[in-house]
Amino acid sequence: MAEKERYRAKLKEAGLRHTLPRDRILALLDKKNAHYTPEEIFKKLRDRGFDVGLSTIYLNLHVLREHGIIQEFRDLHGNTRYDGWTEPHVHLVNLENGKIEDIPLGDLPELNLQEVVSAVEQKTGWKIKDFRIEFRGAPAKEE
Ligand SMILES: [Zn+2]
Repeated sequence: MAEKERYRAKLKEAGLRHTLPRDRILALLDKKNAHYTPEEIFKKLRDRGFDVGLSTIYLNLHVLREHGIIQEFRDLHGNTRYDGWTEPHVHLVNLENGKIEDIPLGDLPELNLQEVVSAVEQKTGWKIKDFRIEFRGAPAKEE
C-alpha cells in the first residue's frame, strides 16, 4: 500500500478524518530514528514548503496520540518527543549525547513480551494498553 493510503486507512480505523497536517505529520514520524519535538516537526514541515502553524501541529499531535497512532515520551532533557514508526522497536538512548536510536524487535532474539504483559495484567488487574522499552548507555570504550 502506498504511504498515503496507509495513513488514510490508519486514521479511518481510529475514527479520524484524513487531513493534510495529519498526513504530513505521520509521514515525518513513521521512520526509523525519527523522534521529534513539536517544534522540530514544525520546522521540518515549513522547510518542506508546508505552510502550517505550530498550534495546528500541537493539536494534531495530541489527537494522534490520544488515538494511539503515535507515541509520546520524554527524552533525557525532559523534552516531549513523538514517535510514529510502526515497526515494533526498542529505544537505545545514548547517555553521552542524548541521541535516541531505534532497534527493531526483529533484530533481537525473540522476546516474549506478550507473556510479560499478561503477567503484569494478572498481577495488577490492569488492562495494559501500551508499553515502552528503553535501553540507556553509551558505546563501550576500548581499554
Ligand atoms: Zn522510536
